[in-house]
Amino acid sequence: MNDRAFNDHSYEEFLKEEKIMGSKCKKCGALALPPRPLCVSCFGQDLEWVQFRGAGKLAAFTSIVIAPPSMAKEGFNKNNPYIVGVVELEEGPNMVARIAGLDAKKPAEIDIGIALKAEFIRTDPAPDQKTYVVFRP
Ligand SMILES: [Zn+2]
Repeated sequence: MNDRAFNDHSYEEFLKEEKIMGSKCKKCGALALPPRPLCVSCFGQDLEWVQFRGAGKLAAFTSIVIAPPSMAKEGFNKNNPYIVGVVELEEGPNMVARIAGLDAKKPAEIDIGIALKAEFIRTDPAPDQKTYVVFRP
């Protein structure tokens, strides 16, 4: 896997293998998720892949009432909102993802800081299947 470029395309390819992969700078140790071809901290180009465990805690969230077309297709709308959150991963970087398993209609009851675990979701096969990450408690 070391011949893969440090970019969004590789990130999505790894997701299909159910791996959350980011880049780590060999010089200063800074992590980037999704991976970046240059270190986000010292601009170094000597990078290596690092796999994230997919565990973290909820740092912020918002309840989405107006669903974009892709989510509306899955049945989300103003009567069935969903949650998008910022997850602070154990390894440090933040990840923005859909949060499942919480009541989007009662955002006041959702606690910041709760532990979350990543889950891989596959979209319909043809024409271009994608795998994305959803977090749930
Ligand atoms: Zn660096």
